[in-house]
Amino acid sequence: MNNKKSPQISLHIPPKMWHQFHHTLLDARTNNEEVIGFLFCKCHQVSKQKIRYLPQSWVVPSPDCYERQSASELVMKQQFHEYLLETFLEKEQLDVVHIHTHSDRHKPEFSCVDDLYESAYAKFLSSHFKKKPRLISGVFDETFQHSQFRIWDRKGKSFESINCTQSWFELTQEANRDWTELMFARQQVFGEGVQKQLGELTVALIGCGGIGSIFAELLGRLGVKKWILIDPDRLESVNLNRLPAATQEMADQQWHKVHYVKHLIKRIYATGSAVKAIPASIADAAARQEVAAADLIVVATDNHSSRQVAQELALAYMRPLVCLGTHIDMQPNNTPRMYCRVTVPPLGGGWCLMCGNIINLHRAALESAANEINHLAAKVGYVEGISNPAVFWLNSLCASTGVGIIHSMLSGFLNVDNGLDWVYEFPGSNWLKADTNYLGTSGCYFCGG
Ligand SMILES: [Zn+2]
Ligand SMILES: [Zn+2]
Repeated sequence: MNNKKSPQISLHIPPKMWHQFHHTLLDARTNNEEVIGFLFCKCHQVSKQKIRYLPQSWVVPSPDCYERQSASELVMKQQFHEYLLETFLEKEQLDVVHIHTHSDRHKPEFSCVDDLYESAYAKFLSSHFKKKPRLISGVFDETFQHSQFRIWDRKGKSFESINCTQSWFELTQEANRDWTELMFARQQVFGEGVQKQLGELTVALIGCGGIGSIFAELLGRLGVKKWILIDPDRLESVNLNRLPAATQEMADQQWHKVHYVKHLIKRIYATGSAVKAIPASIADAAARQEVAAADLIVVATDNHSSRQVAQELALAYMRPLVCLGTHIDMQPNNTPRMYCRVTVPPLGGGWCLMCGNIINLHRAALESAANEINHLAAKVGYVEGISNPAVFWLNSLCASTGVGIIHSMLSGFLNVDNGLDWVYEFPGSNWLKADTNYLGTSGCYFCGG
């Protein structure tokens, strides 16, 4: 017997892409015939046990792309097929997902015809391309309610079932865990499913200072137990005005901020939590690898360059990103202007922190430049000093809103498929909500928007 455990394979389609793809598929159907569509994916080996396929592009052939199209048979034109292969397999080196529908209304099964065709196609793909692309196939019922997905081996001889997710988070719920904890009795109204997902969610928090620590305390209390904490800094006395439960003693002992936030989580969960504290910058290779494997990336740093890195990672590994920040400045007449901002770029691209002008690339570049250059720039007024004003209550407002948005993303009571960018302004007390249709520039270098 071979007891080597094969890795868990999944396909994660961003909700916005799924929405466009499946509506185009529905529109392509004129009568009752079967329709097909393709996704072209990058493969991310998360660990030895876990592989994710992440769609980069999709294509739904229009009727004129077919040689023959009927309820039982679909044959694409040679020229169109060659175009697909050349563009996505030869040039972009992607793997293929083949999705089609069956005209019934219950859980569909792959047919013998599907088996024959897909087996031959899997074999064709690996024998024609150096990179030996994999074939994943999916079949839906005509209502798109039920589906099955599988991945073929390169010889086209066997396949195994895989999971396909079309939401923000890819979570496998552990069946035999007890979720009836008394601790969450007062939030039962949001449903057992949401509580379970919170318990399964792994959050990578970049920045464990004034906003990050409150965020961790709030999301931890809501039910998140799995954390990856990233921050190179140590706790100082000047931080004590805004870090919950931080003490002078911790500052005297120069605790790393990641260990202080780990302490906050362990204070909530005496048992059952998993917290990785990484006292390094997000530029660190090990930190990046952990972030890429998380279910959600939250960036709460006070600089532009780490936010840029977080966004690049979120795009490269198709992870949901939540960006939190506050800003206080003084007007000439000595009245303060205070802002907090919560930004969630759409999963899988569309717009990002860079093309949405949420962060400033010029500043990011200066920040990540060598220290001496930074000093020079500061002298001529390009970079702000490190002593940015910060207060607990404004940070709390920002962190609370971020947690609320994540809670609603899981519950589905707020649709953020096109992303979200909210700015709160005090003392005017206005929430300014950006129209996400106007965010981003087409052909963005980072997200392809
Ligand atoms: Zn079929
Ligand atoms: Zn962009």
